Amino acid sequence: MAFCRDALNRGQGTIATATSIPLETIIAGLLTCSLPAFANAARKSFQRGVGRGYADVVVERPAICGERSHRGIAVSGGVAHARILVIGQPRRLIERTPVSDDRLDFELDRLNTALIQTRQDIQAVKEQVAAAMGAQEAGLFEAHLLVIEDSTLLDEVVRKIRLEKVCAEAAFHEVSEKYVAALEAIDDGYLRERAADIRDVTGRVLDHLLGVGEQRDLRRLSEPCIVVAHDLPPSTTAVLDRQHVLGFATEAGGQTSHTAIMARKLGIPAIVGLGPLLDAVRDGEYALLDGHGGVLTVNPTDQTLFAYGQLKQRRAQFEEKLALLREQPAVTLDGHRITLAANIDGPEDMAAVQASGAEGVGLFRTEFLFLNRRMPPDEDEQFEAYRTVASKTGAGATAVLRTLDLGGDKLPGALARTGEPNPFLGWRAIRISLEQPAMFRSQLRAILRASAYGRVRLLYPMISSLEELRAANGLLAKCREELRAEGVPFDESMPVGAMIEIPAAAIVADALAREVNFFSIGTNDLTGYTLAVDRLNERVAHLYRPTHPAIVRMIRMTVDAAAKHGREVAVCGEMAGEPGLVPLLIGLGVHELSVTPAMIPQVKFLLRRLKLSEAKPLADFALGCESALEIHSRSVALARQIAPNLFGGS
Ligand code: PEP
Ligand code: MG
Repeated sequence: MAFCRDALNRGQGTIATATSIPLETIIAGLLTCSLPAFANAARKSFQRGVGRGYADVVVERPAICGERSHRGIAVSGGVAHARILVIGQPRRLIERTPVSDDRLDFELDRLNTALIQTRQDIQAVKEQVAAAMGAQEAGLFEAHLLVIEDSTLLDEVVRKIRLEKVCAEAAFHEVSEKYVAALEAIDDGYLRERAADIRDVTGRVLDHLLGVGEQRDLRRLSEPCIVVAHDLPPSTTAVLDRQHVLGFATEAGGQTSHTAIMARKLGIPAIVGLGPLLDAVRDGEYALLDGHGGVLTVNPTDQTLFAYGQLKQRRAQFEEKLALLREQPAVTLDGHRITLAANIDGPEDMAAVQASGAEGVGLFRTEFLFLNRRMPPDEDEQFEAYRTVASKTGAGATAVLRTLDLGGDKLPGALARTGEPNPFLGWRAIRISLEQPAMFRSQLRAILRASAYGRVRLLYPMISSLEELRAANGLLAKCREELRAEGVPFDESMPVGAMIEIPAAAIVADALAREVNFFSIGTNDLTGYTLAVDRLNERVAHLYRPTHPAIVRMIRMTVDAAAKHGREVAVCGEMAGEPGLVPLLIGLGVHELSVTPAMIPQVKFLLRRLKLSEAKPLADFALGCESALEIHSRSVALARQIAPNLFGGS
């Protein structure tokens, strides 16, 4: 690798002062390939995908042994037993070790080797991306290569090693941090993000210098593991190596974070919101993860393993029973028919939808088509995806395609160059679509075109006012006209709906109902926005209560407003997939539940044992009740009474 050697040989001059360091060289490459917002998003996703993260200075911790339990929020059922793989854990003290003259060349060689290994890492990721998504997307990683080829940075590191006689990791760390700090100090959010890019690459070099550079690519692992991390963004969760990641546990997160939703969809047992954990576990320790009970047991005893083995067996038997319901309708014991549909993130989920016995797709989160890539899919690519979903949706069933809901925890801060202090209240969903008419138009056209291949419904996310709805419908009308003029077939009567997930929308639902064909209540956001509780923040997770009287009343308001105009109401938030809360929703008059495919059998099992005549009085009680806990326990009590197996009983 000539580039490293040249830099090492050059690095014999004088030490540059901090002010004389040109940052342009390093950031130029990052800037040039970062112009499209999606490049930024994709880079972040892949950085996360490869499990980056390192600490500056860490103290060695004493050995920890014996069984220890950590309790968090159970978000995805199942039990996993494997070694822990800690991601983003500070690993080692970067010691400033003095180096004698006769060892200086050895340190330079170590640096050279680490740079070569880093280059190979980045090349490998680049090739993977090229194979999966094409050369254009892979070009993104050229910018990362520029960082480790930057002669200004490398010259200074080499000079530091030679003149200050320090080990390579200390020299590299100090110099690279100076660059990063200089970028971070500039009052420009975009440049601050480039600082994170540089830290990402230089962190890789440090990992190699510290001997911890292996086993970081979460998309490709060599042995089974339970991933433990501070947090995993949804984009990383989406590409986890399913064969080897048997479960994951995170310090941060809540029940309705998209990472939790994704874990349920993928069927990966998961616990989030565990609080401080990284310092209490070690890479390579065995752990038992109980995704039902929300307990991570590190170094489980034989007794604990035996108890869980029995539990697992009981669950497997019950699941066999549930599988028999696949072809059965979702109908209550007293004959009330409910549409039980599935939430999906892409056409690849259709096999799971079909296997689950769901009646169509109640929510296609189309934004997932836009993740982990540099450029958004064009109209034709989207059309193919939507057509696949529409045509694989069973006869008589519908596929609800929601327009883009990017933002929030899906590409946080990536769409706005400056980042946003409060992404859930910021540039998200329909707000982005309405401000990017060209992108929105291509999605609307693709959805309309797909409506010729199955019963498609279109759904707008994050509607907060009639004006927004009208603006979106205005563009839709234009797309219809265009397609008509082009002679492209589509369903002229394709139903159009609005998500009710902002309190304002629930309050003006009567006005919205006049201009849509259906509502879908997003209880995840409705709960967050109504109670002012961040759905991702484990510190306030105890305040996140979908059975809060305010939410219950808003659901009823929505149902009543819809009924006045002959519209139906679905619930597609996670509340619909909680068997304990299903009696409440049905009692409140909801017509459709849309849940992750993995939960379809359980919800159907419950529905088929429920009586509307029992659910209605429960809802009446809830509407007059002032306590979220009481409403919750009444609904769960009814569910538990009619379907004890769903709650661990028999
Ligand atoms: C919701 O908010 O309930 C919902 C279904 O949308 P998302 O989870 O994608 O924000
Ligand atoms: Mg939502």
